[in-house]
Amino acid sequence: MPSYRADLLSDTLTAPTQGMRAAMAGAEVGDDVFGEDPTVRALEERVATLLGHEAGLFTPTGSMANQLGVRVHCQPGEELLSDSLAHVVRAELGAAAVLSGVTSRTWSAPRGLLDPVAPLSMVVTGVGPYQVCTSLVCVENTHNFGGGTVQPLSALRAVRAATEREGVAMHLDGARLWNAHVASGVPLADYGDCADTVSVCLSKGLGAPVGSVLVGSADAVAEARVWRKRLGGGMRQVGILAAAGLWALDHHIERLADDHDRARRAAQACAEAAPGCVDPATVETNIVVLDAAAVGWEAPAFVAALAEAGVRGYAVSPTAVRLVWHLDVDEAATSYAVDVLTATLAAGTRRR
Ligand SMILES: *Cc1c(COP(=O)(O)O)cnc(C)c1O
Repeated sequence: MPSYRADLLSDTLTAPTQGMRAAMAGAEVGDDVFGEDPTVRALEERVATLLGHEAGLFTPTGSMANQLGVRVHCQPGEELLSDSLAHVVRAELGAAAVLSGVTSRTWSAPRGLLDPVAPLSMVVTGVGPYQVCTSLVCVENTHNFGGGTVQPLSALRAVRAATEREGVAMHLDGARLWNAHVASGVPLADYGDCADTVSVCLSKGLGAPVGSVLVGSADAVAEARVWRKRLGGGMRQVGILAAAGLWALDHHIERLADDHDRARRAAQACAEAAPGCVDPATVETNIVVLDAAAVGWEAPAFVAALAEAGVRGYAVSPTAVRLVWHLDVDEAATSYAVDVLTATLAAGTRRR
């Protein structure tokens, strides 16, 4: 595996720290399929409480947590609505259709920013045997493919109120809800209050090797538990992984502000070196999306030039490059990345 001086491919790359490994090694465990793993139960309760929900369920991945949310709220032949860039429709490989028989319709959302009105304009209920009924609206916070966008609480609340009136459930994909919370100062429970179920990842910026938690009502989580087992996600002495999550909750939430500062600083330097490649005001959390094409680069060539210099980014389209800050990119790596980014961008500008 090549190693990079600054690896900005994804915040999933984080490796467990020494403290986290020690916590894992010392974890009390039991058979979690029998509900007897105390560390898993502690994690589930802790996350549920943080988000103001009754119960939680530990899952191996965020995709499974999201899909359990879909499964709990939708029957086969019903539909979910989301924005067109949402992870649940773009990056889960058609799971809602394959596993739950659920169709998806999407609204468009520049930068993934939640439009408080668009979802409701698409909701269809009570149309019985004539049209597909909407049973779920999915929203994402922060928005990954939108560039780490923080959803305004007012928009989340507006959609929540409207879907509640229509009897449609709401699922919040909060893979990076921790980042939204740290960037906005909005309490996690206020975000939690905006949805029937919420999924959160422990394995992104929080730095755990594995794991997500789905929270919701006791009934919803009990049903999700059945479906988790059915999908092959019933795990045994998994407290050893839940311990990593508990460690991350204790030690790695507040420090996300460092990732946000570094991302913003890099965006500002890039904007100065190559005006038009990014608007630093859009960098709200740990993700920077550069418009490489706007400054004379094709995204794959730009990524290759960065890699040559020891910096890894990700070409998310032929024109755009994503850079993600995380636990394993420190001050020195950030400074190095900024030097490489600005020099490479300037070279593109000269070639035009
Ligand atoms: C990473 C991510 C997930 C979950 O991904 P897994 O790889 O399945 O853990 C879900 N939603 C968003 C927005 C994500 O970025």
